[in-house]
Amino acid sequence: MTSKPFDLRGKVAIVTGGNGGIGFGMARGLAEAGAGIAIVGRNEAKSAAAAADLSKLGVRAISVVADVTDTSAVTAMVERTVRELGRIDILVNNAGINIRKPPHALSLEEWDSVIKTNLTSAFLCSQAAYPAMKAAGAGKVINIGSMMSIFGASFAPAYAASKGGIVQFTRSCAVAWAPDNIQVNAVLPGWIDTELTQRARDQIDGLHDKVLARTPAARWGDISDFAGIAVFLSSAASDFVTGTAIPVDGGFSVMG
Ligand code: NDP
Repeated sequence: MTSKPFDLRGKVAIVTGGNGGIGFGMARGLAEAGAGIAIVGRNEAKSAAAAADLSKLGVRAISVVADVTDTSAVTAMVERTVRELGRIDILVNNAGINIRKPPHALSLEEWDSVIKTNLTSAFLCSQAAYPAMKAAGAGKVINIGSMMSIFGASFAPAYAASKGGIVQFTRSCAVAWAPDNIQVNAVLPGWIDTELTQRARDQIDGLHDKVLARTPAARWGDISDFAGIAVFLSSAASDFVTGTAIPVDGGFSVMG
């Protein structure tokens, strides 16, 4: 173990959905620890602004416009990161959406769109990044789950299925790639104040107060709560940690 186990200088991370919300909170933590960052999203202006913001921390940050459900866009994302930043040490599979409807009202198209964005994208991006990590002899993959990786959700069946799936996908990659010195872990956020949950608060009556009452820490999470876990799971500090699913939830998942 190095004397600076959380130092990410010289490392490069791809963060999907890194232009806002939890992804940006993680990207900022990684950049503060010294990593170069490729911010990936569909919204070009938002991604460019996020990359410009991170550059102010003194690291190289680029914005890559890609839809993570599109195989050729994912291949291009990896190629461009290697071309411009030189390597890939860390992949954060964070891009995600939700469509809030009960199971009997969800169309197949809506189901497919959520599963592809939240789960299939992690498969595509991990598979695309694997050769660079294997060649380097090391790598870190962080997949983003949810409280719905653990609990059922009457209003989000495809989302819960995708987030349950992401934990099993994490465990499978962890086992497959341990011999390559690639650690694969999942982070399970509780209720975090982002654009995604702003929409949930608009759609679900009383959600804001219900979350406060149900969370032992008695607050919503902030995107800055994700900097530390991102650095830990990306650094030498976690070299013997793989296949885990770590809640970052203010105690939500252990509240009886
Ligand atoms: P936001 O809506 O703020 O961010 C979602 C991000 O995903 C955006 O950057 C968006 O960028 C990107 N994205 C969505 N679809 C695609 C796509 N097809 N291709 C590329 N990028 C895409 O959400 P959060 O920050 O809240 O959520 C981030 C992750 O955390 C998600 O996986 C979510 O499920 C998970 N999570 C969030 C919780 C919360 O309370 N906020 C709780 C539990 C889990 P763009 O629009 O530019 O494509």
